[in-house]
Order: sequence, then C-alpha cells, then structure tokens
Amino acid sequence: MALNVIMLGPPGAGKGTQAERFARSRGIPKISTGDILREAVHAGTDIGKRAKAIMDRGELVSDDVMIEIVRERLARHDAVNGFVLDGFPRTVAQAEALDTTMEGRDPLIVVDLVVPEAELVRRLSSRMICAACGANATIEDVVNAAAGAEPRCGVCGGKLVQRSDDNEAVVRERLKVYHRETEPLVHYYRERPTFRTINGAQAADRVAADLGAAIESAGTGRPLGAHGVTKSRRVRA
Ligand code: AMP
Repeated sequence: MALNVIMLGPPGAGKGTQAERFARSRGIPKISTGDILREAVHAGTDIGKRAKAIMDRGELVSDDVMIEIVRERLARHDAVNGFVLDGFPRTVAQAEALDTTMEGRDPLIVVDLVVPEAELVRRLSSRMICAACGANATIEDVVNAAAGAEPRCGVCGGKLVQRSDDNEAVVRERLKVYHRETEPLVHYYRERPTFRTINGAQAADRVAADLGAAIESAGTGRPLGAHGVTKSRRVRA
C-alpha cells in the first residue's frame, strides 16, 4: 500500500524536518508547498512574483494556485508509491480538493504534530535556512562551526540566514492564520481511521520514532498506543 501522508501542525512544529526524514527513509518524495513557492520566488516566475508579498506578510497564497500546484505534483511518477505532503492542505477548501485528487488512490494518512505555542515562537525565531540552497539548518551545522566562524549549511556550505517570514511580527500573523484557516482541518480529518496525533514537543529522534510508528499503524489499520502516539478515534458504525 502506498503511504500517502499529510502533515498537519502549526508553523515551527517540525513538519518539514520530520517529513524530510520520513520520506528519505521510505524512498518517497517530500512535497513541501512552502519550498515550491520559495523556489518560484527565487526563480522569479509569475507565481513566485505574486506569492512573495503574500508570504512576507504571513498570509496564505490563494487556494486555486495551491491546489493546481499540488494536483500537478501528485500526478508525477515519483509520487505513485507514496509521498509526504508538508504545508498542504492549509484550508478546508484545499483539503476537499485533495480528497478529489486522491480518488482511486490509497487513503490519506493524516498526522497532526502538536507543539505548545510558546515553544513554536521560540523555535521560529531561532530557525535558520541556507541562503543558497534553501535547506533547513540543523543543530549540527551550528555546533560544527569553527570557534568564532559563522555556521554554514551542512548540504552546500552556503551562508545561513533567517527566513524572511520568521521575524516576530510575521510569526505572530502566521500563527493567527494557522488557528483561523488550518486548525479546523483537525476537525475535518479526526474521525478518519487513518488520523494520528503526535507530540511534537519532544526531542527530534523521539518525534521521528513516534511518527514512524503512527504512520505504520495507520497504514496497516492496526491501532497503536505507544508513548506519544494516540489511537485514532474509530468511526462509529
Ligand atoms: P511554509 O514553508 O509551509 O511555512 O510556507 C511558507 C509560506 O508559503 C506560508 O506562510 C504561505 O504564505 C505560503 N504557503 C505554503 N503552503 C501554502 C498553502 N498550502 N496554502 C497557501 N499558502 C501556502
């Protein structure tokens, strides 16, 4: 069965890092709509030009644009055996469109990464990305920097910078938008037998272990009560 995973959770919950790890371990693509948009901005395409100002304000790019980007991406050959979507869907309209796109394919496995708000603000204000290749900096990049030297990207050696939408004012707006537009998706999905909740406020390795177990149990239809993982609520007959 294809593992068709979507990651819910607020900005800063660790969706990108965990999606990347899980996707790599299973040889399936991680599809991040934020990364796709940042690449479009970098390349100066029409979509990129329109998206930049919206992203810099912490608001959402229109559903129509996002739905088309994801529909096209999921139709590509490498997503046939599964994928991990990071940052999509972000609205109920996007979730409904995704259900239509997924007709005839294996069911979506929905993972909600839960992290307290104070921890999100702390993480977002200290997050760094590579100015050259866009990779998220890891703690190793920072720790491995020679004394007094600026930390560099572990992937390409590029300079690490703060994301332009990670400053405090924009972070507050993104969290507001998350509560208003994206949190209702928990309601949209929670009765599905493939819905799982993960405690994202743990060490990254622990989160990764819980995520793997949760996706495994959702994919095989087996309930699981491991540490940090809640059983899905069964749909009543
Ligand atoms: P992210 O990297 O997921 O935090 O996304 C960065 C920004 O890209 C968001 O704050 C939005 O402006 C935009 N974006 C990414 N994914 C979506 C989406 N599914 N719907 C609308 N806007 C999005």
